[in-house]
Amino acid sequence: MYDHLIVGAGLYGAVAARELTDAGKKCLVIDKRPHIAGNVYTEETEGIQVHKYGAHIFHTNSRRVWDYLQRFAEFNRFTNSPVANYRGELYSLPFNMYTFNKMWGVVTPAEAAAKIEEQRRAAGIGEPKNLEEQAISLVGTDIYEKLIKGYTQKQWGRPCDKLPAFIIKRLPVRLTFDNNYFNALYQGIPVGGYTKMAANMLEGIEARLNEDYLADRAAWDKLADSVIYTGPIDAFFGNCLGNLEYRSLRFETELLDIPNFQGNAAVNYTDAETPWTRIIEHKWFEFGRDPEGSDIPKTVITREYPAEWKPGDEPYYPVNDEKNGTLYGKYKELADKETKVIFGGRLGEYRYYDMDQVILAALEKVEEIL
Ligand code: UDP
Repeated sequence: MYDHLIVGAGLYGAVAARELTDAGKKCLVIDKRPHIAGNVYTEETEGIQVHKYGAHIFHTNSRRVWDYLQRFAEFNRFTNSPVANYRGELYSLPFNMYTFNKMWGVVTPAEAAAKIEEQRRAAGIGEPKNLEEQAISLVGTDIYEKLIKGYTQKQWGRPCDKLPAFIIKRLPVRLTFDNNYFNALYQGIPVGGYTKMAANMLEGIEARLNEDYLADRAAWDKLADSVIYTGPIDAFFGNCLGNLEYRSLRFETELLDIPNFQGNAAVNYTDAETPWTRIIEHKWFEFGRDPEGSDIPKTVITREYPAEWKPGDEPYYPVNDEKNGTLYGKYKELADKETKVIFGGRLGEYRYYDMDQVILAALEKVEEIL
C-alpha cells in the first residue's frame, strides 16, 4: 500500500517523508504521540509559543540545511545568549570576555588567556581524557567549578570525569565580547513555532497519530515496502542485548501573571544543589511579542529537571560514554542486517544530534534510498 512507512513524526521523519513524497513515493507517517514534530513540538499559550520538550534554538553552518528550511518556515532573528546563575552570581554564556571579566576581573584577551593557562598548568592536565579535564584545559578550574561541574553532573547524573570530553566541546570558548552561544552562520526560531514548520513539511502526507509501531510491528510492516524507524534502536530489538542508557527530562511549566520573570529566554542554574538545570522563559524566543506585534502581559516559564531514564519515560539524550557506545555498536550490527528497515535520528542512531544534523542526515539518507 505504501512505499515507505515512517515511524516517528519528528524532524528526521518529517524531512524523510517530504523528500520521498516529492520524489513520487507513497509514504505513511505514524507517531505514538498525539502530535507531530517530536521533541521540537511547540504549543501556543496566551500568544506564547511554548517549547513543550525543552528549548530548541535552530542554528547551523550548513547553507544547504538553512536554505532547505526556508521552504517550511520563516525564521526570526533570535540569538541564544543564556545567562548562568551560580548561587546568585550571574555570568555570561558561552565562556567569553564578559564571563572572564566577571570571574577574574581581567580586561584584555591576553590577561584572560594567561589566567586560563595558569589554572590549566596548576591542574596538571595534559591531553584531556574526560569532560572534567577537557573543561579545565579549555577554561580553567574556577569556571569549571562554578559554571560546568554542578550543571553537568545534574544534567548527566554522572561525575564529569566519567563523561566523554566531546560534550563540553559543544560550547564555544571565545576571547571576544560575544554572547552568542552558537558558532553558527545561521540561527533563529521559526515564526509561529516548530509545530507549524513540521506541519508544512508534512503537508499532503498521510500521518496517523497515537499509533505505536512496536506494539504491532508485523501488522505495520505489511503496509509498506520499507520502514524508516526513528525510535530508540534498542527498543526496536526488544532490548534483547540490554538497555541503552538515556537521560530523560521532567518539565514543570507555569503561566505567570507578570510580564517578565527573568529577562532572558534561558537561565542556567550551574550549582549542584538547585534541582533544575535551567529555567526557560518562552516569550523571549519571540522578543515578548505576540503574532500581532503587541507586548504580551503574561509569561510562561519552564523548569527543566534532568532524570535518569527508566522504561516508560521519554528518552531525550543518548549517553555517549564507552559502555553505551559498545552496546550501541552491537545493536548497530543487528540493524545493519535488517534489509527492510532504516534507522535514523537521535534515537535510531543513538547520537547527540542537533536539529540541523538530523535534517542533513535525513536528506542524505533519502538521496541514498532514491
Ligand atoms: N554546560 C555546562 N554549563 C552550562 C551549560 C552547558 O557545563 O551552563 C555543559 C554541560 O555538560 C552540557 C554541555 O555543556 O551537557 C552541552 O550544553 P548544551 O547547552 O549544548 O546542551 P543541550 O542544550 O543540548 O542540553
